Amino acid sequence: MKLILLGPPGAGKGTQAKRLQESYSIIQLSTGDMLRAEVDSGSALGAQAKEVMESGELVSDELIIKMISSRIDKDDCKAGFILDGFPRTTPQAEALDVMFDEKGLKLDCVIEMQVDDEAMVERITGRYTCSACGRGYHDSFKKPDVEGVCNKCGGTEFSRRADDNAETVRSRLQAYNEQTAPIISYYGNKGILKSIDGMAAIDDVTKQMKDLIG
Ligand code: ADP
Ligand code: ADP
Ligand code: ZN
Repeated sequence: MKLILLGPPGAGKGTQAKRLQESYSIIQLSTGDMLRAEVDSGSALGAQAKEVMESGELVSDELIIKMISSRIDKDDCKAGFILDGFPRTTPQAEALDVMFDEKGLKLDCVIEMQVDDEAMVERITGRYTCSACGRGYHDSFKKPDVEGVCNKCGGTEFSRRADDNAETVRSRLQAYNEQTAPIISYYGNKGILKSIDGMAAIDDVTKQMKDLIG
């Protein structure tokens, strides 16, 4: 199964992709996570992406397309994958079609997470993750069961993203509305677009997705 999760920053793509990864044997491919790993490793690619990410703009299509193309050739993608944060522009969506044709793959479904833009600012500024396992939390909406301790791995260190601040959020939402939102109709025209209510509670959003996927 090959899926795309579409939605603005804070829509819940990462949260839901991790849950689908655990329930179905498919892997989450987050271009944001891949880029942050490149930045942390100090690679040339990471150095190129760092400033762009911190300003809330989009990294070049060429760099992202190459990165995703080599990633989906890996063995752990054979059973299927969930694209989280890609494609984000029309050229990326077109390149993905070409890539799938060349690799003999088929896209099953694109799930659009419909949310209210204004609510995304609070979602993003309250977001943090476990430094050990990457499980995501939120200051108000998703606290660990025991304060300061990760539910999944027991880790006690958490981190926040450099770009998750009130100023950058505005540019990221603008980048979404200008460059990413147009691809919703691109997939609508292909007849593979499904929409869900991303403003519902996290468990309810998961249920909507599972009902769609079957
Ligand atoms: P994205 O990957 O789309 O940017 P995340 O999955 O990281 O979004 O979610 C952003 C923040 O909002 C996280 O802190 C997460 O815990 C929280 N969150 C995710 N889904 C919901 C929801 N349905 N209701 C409330 N908070 C949510
Ligand atoms: P979110 O879903 O919370 O907006 P991501 O983790 O998906 O954040 O992305 C963080 C940043 O990484 C983006 O603001 C952008 O600079 C860069 N990025 C991630 N994916 C892409 C992509 N497909 N195309 C261009 N830039 C990307
Ligand atoms: Zn953890």
